[in-house]
This record gives sequence, C-alpha cells and structure tokens, in this order.
Amino acid sequence: MKLIGKCHCGNIKIIANINSDNVYACHCNDCQIMSGAPFRTMIGVDRNNVEISGDTKEYIKIAESGNKRIQSFCATCYTSLFSSSLEKERYSIRTGIFNERDKLKPKKHLYGKSSLKWIHQIVNDEWVTTMPNSKPYKIK
Ligand SMILES: [Zn+2]
Ligand SMILES: [Zn+2]
Repeated sequence: MKLIGKCHCGNIKIIANINSDNVYACHCNDCQIMSGAPFRTMIGVDRNNVEISGDTKEYIKIAESGNKRIQSFCATCYTSLFSSSLEKERYSIRTGIFNERDKLKPKKHLYGKSSLKWIHQIVNDEWVTTMPNSKPYKIK
C-alpha cells in the first residue's frame, strides 16, 4: 500500500510503501509525553521503502533500555514525523501525517501496562461532531 503524507505546514513530504501489518499503537510513557496525547500510532518501514523531503529537526531520545533513538520533526512547524535508530535503516513513522491514516488500524496496542485507564472505554463516552456544543456524533 502506498502512503502519502505531509507535516502541518507542508515543508515535509513523505511517501512510503508499507505493509499494513506493521501498524502499532504505543501507550508507553515516552509516547504519551512526546505526543502530548494518550498514545501514539506508527508504521514500521524500511529505509528503501520511504522517501522524505524537506528540512527536519532531530532530537535524540535515550530509551529505558539505554538505546538511542532519533526523533524527527519538521524544522518549521514541529510536526512529529518519525523515530529511527541512529543508522536510519528503518523508520517508525507517525501514522497521523498520512492522508490514508483512517485505513491504518493498529495491529496491536503496545505498552498496555501504562495505557490510560479511560482509553479502554472511549466508545462509551459522549461524542460530538466538532466543538463542545456541536451535534452528537454517532460512532459507527
Ligand atoms: Zn512543517
Ligand atoms: Zn511508545
């Protein structure tokens, strides 16, 4: 499956050929803090199956394991793009940047042990179409 993605400002473009079996959601503490969200979703892609253009900015994260991971962002709008090892032989790309993100359902949820308890019941929450006072939204 071919994916086309970009950052919020459009400086970065990413084209990837992927296998949708490689989509994961991660609920680890680092993913929660770095995304500012309850969890992060990503797709694993080998270097030869991805094209990235535009100026990126990198932050080296040291994982609990001691491994160093590059965290890459758009240098203009700071959209979170991907992580990789220092050698960049494989990328873990944030699925939210792709036009096809709705088709990228996680195969597994990683780090359930640090997942936020309320996320497990989200289908039972009150949903609205857009802003807080908008019409109810029915989850299909
Ligand atoms: Zn950008
Ligand atoms: Zn994580």
